[in-house]
Amino acid sequence: MLLSLLALPLAAAAATPTLPAFQHRDSPFAALFKRDGAVPDPNAPDFASHYPANWKTPDPSGLPKAWLDKLHSIQLPANNPVANKTSSSGTAYDGINNQGNNPDVCSFTFGCIAPTDYFEAPNSTWLLNFDDGPTEASPRLYDFLRSEQIEKNATHFMIGSNIQSYPKTMQEAFAQGGHIAVHTWAHPMMTTLSNEQVVGELGWTMQIISDLTGGRIPAFWRPPYGDVDNRVRAIAKGVFGMETVVWNKDTNDWKIGTGGTTVDSVKDVMRGFITGPKGPGIVPLEHELNNDTVQVFLDSYQLMKDNGWAVSTAPDAYGLLWYQNAKGNDGPVVAAMSVGEVQTAMGTNASWANPTSAAPSSAAPSVNATSAGGSSASEKTPNTQQGNKNSSAARLGVSAALILPALALVL
Ligand SMILES: [Zn+2]
Repeated sequence: MLLSLLALPLAAAAATPTLPAFQHRDSPFAALFKRDGAVPDPNAPDFASHYPANWKTPDPSGLPKAWLDKLHSIQLPANNPVANKTSSSGTAYDGINNQGNNPDVCSFTFGCIAPTDYFEAPNSTWLLNFDDGPTEASPRLYDFLRSEQIEKNATHFMIGSNIQSYPKTMQEAFAQGGHIAVHTWAHPMMTTLSNEQVVGELGWTMQIISDLTGGRIPAFWRPPYGDVDNRVRAIAKGVFGMETVVWNKDTNDWKIGTGGTTVDSVKDVMRGFITGPKGPGIVPLEHELNNDTVQVFLDSYQLMKDNGWAVSTAPDAYGLLWYQNAKGNDGPVVAAMSVGEVQTAMGTNASWANPTSAAPSSAAPSVNATSAGGSSASEKTPNTQQGNKNSSAARLGVSAALILPALALVL
């Protein structure tokens, strides 16, 4: 299946009769981010007023009706409890001990990885990604990426509130070719929020990114603290069409300055990852949060080069489009043809609530519930040795099979 599709010349793929024509701005996802008036100007003094308050979960009463209508139109998992926050990065579910490990819930905070999660990379690939930007430390990182000519190899999971504060910094990352993705509006533990609050956190971050990138609709998001469960996944994919990216290696750079964690100690952690096994590839948790976290990467990159790692954005690592309606930062914004819509068009996708349910990877075990009751951030680095076979390599087959017709439509 994969090989035969890959062997098709693009012209033949473009002529595939089962695929629909372009869907323009009234397509399911693009329509959610239309502006009635002019797109907010980041140079205008009232720019921030076009968005919710900084660093607060947006009030559900102020959400666009289209987002809520979409939420109410999708089918959420039957067992979809809201978690309780137990610490700065820990959660618990009422009723059943370790319910986060229940396959129906599948909380990454409890070490569970869903079949739809992207958490590791192809062999020898280092998924170059940075969370929490844009910040005052970001320009230094962007300068370095340019100096090493890897500025187009980086995914930036950005916080909506930070974009609101530093819109021009976000646009610098975009203009130099960085891949822009979503890291929520106010950086909460998403599994502890109501459905409507989840919609607000994702939707407003997508809106501000769309407004500042010529209408591009993000296709990837990362949950803060890795706190995601099946309910939140279903909203991210079902309402907004986004893929969830977690990680398989936590550098703990976010801990620098606390508990004895220093720039040097995190560089030692990085050295271990960089000089360790190349298979599977690494999806690290790294940050453009402050000068210290940026320094760790600047000081580690030469070793990464010396060890032969290929650095890649998330979509390039998995053979996917950068945005739901554009191939990348250059070129036209055309259709809202997401991978999920391509799956639907090809008759391989059963529902938005479980977007890969009918994809070939569904034969893999549904969860990797190997963590025995772990429910805090410090324990949630997943065990990729067992359980989930839906690794990037396995998923790559699915993704690559879908990308050719998708590209043919977008190009
Ligand atoms: Zn974060």
